Amino acid sequence: MQLLDGKEVSAAYKEQIKLEVDKRKAEGKTTPHLAAILIGDNPASKAYVGNKVKTCAQLGFESTLVEYDTNVSEEDLLKKIAELNKQEDVNGILVQLPLPKHIDENKVIEAIHPLKDVDGFHPSNLGKMMIGQETFIPATPYGIILMLQHYGIETSGMHCVVIGRSNIVGTPMSVLLSRNSNPGNCTVTLTHSRTKNLKELCATADIIIAAIGKPKFVTEDMVKDGAIIVDVGINRIPDATRKSGSRLVGDVDFENVKEKCDYITPVPGGVGLMTICALMKNTLRAADLV
Ligand code: NAD
Repeated sequence: MQLLDGKEVSAAYKEQIKLEVDKRKAEGKTTPHLAAILIGDNPASKAYVGNKVKTCAQLGFESTLVEYDTNVSEEDLLKKIAELNKQEDVNGILVQLPLPKHIDENKVIEAIHPLKDVDGFHPSNLGKMMIGQETFIPATPYGIILMLQHYGIETSGMHCVVIGRSNIVGTPMSVLLSRNSNPGNCTVTLTHSRTKNLKELCATADIIIAAIGKPKFVTEDMVKDGAIIVDVGINRIPDATRKSGSRLVGDVDFENVKEKCDYITPVPGGVGLMTICALMKNTLRAADLV
């Protein structure tokens, strides 16, 4: 079994990105600038946004963090997005999801200018991705593609089972891996909570992408010998041996599944790190588009 090591791979991509940013600066070009909007005090969202801002600093990007209380009105949020759309020195805008219930997520996503939509969630960018046009690809699926590319994993002709059909992970992942590209050219089965024979489907998969949000959901009896396992899940479970009283685990039962598969991503230290890397690549691309 080989670990698909997000730490190592993201470090390599980040080094490349930093070199490109340094080169831009030396050539007198603009500095890529990401604006992140964080609403409320959800600890996971705070941690994700904090990491994104920290990574901007590491790579020489500018960043702006806009923070709102949970009760911010939809109108004020949309106004802020309109301002950032107009602000010439801002290349990328992201609004950390999930949003409070009184705010319409679709309205917010559609308010972001497609050329600044570095999360790749705008319908226009998702549509372009569907038909294989160059665009911003949602960061988590893009990060997984970068990871597979880094290890030179040849996916052509493989059967891939994606578990979970969210707009930000499962659905775009299924599209990307089914396209005529590398990585890609898979036969993809997109599964979800209503799928009846999930175990049997998984057991035939050459690649499993688990994006469900249920700790250790994928067990070894669901995995074929030699499969490639990509674990997107981030779940916090109680752990009395830790000072914090909890720890993060993925959607895959890592300890048991690792004995059967050829490749596997750990949690933490896998897909999460690649997601940030992909976001930075999208922001750099946005700066190039200006
Ligand atoms: P989501 O929470 O929006 O939806 C979960 C999906 O899982 C749904 O499509 C549902 O149909 C499916 N599902 C639920 N129960 C199922 C079952 N019993 N069998 C089959 N399918 C089932 O999904 P999401 O936003 O993609 O998040 C999934 C997980 O990935 C979460 O743990 C989230 O924290 C994590 N995540 C990680 C990253 C990262 O960078 N690593 C990024 C985004 C999400």
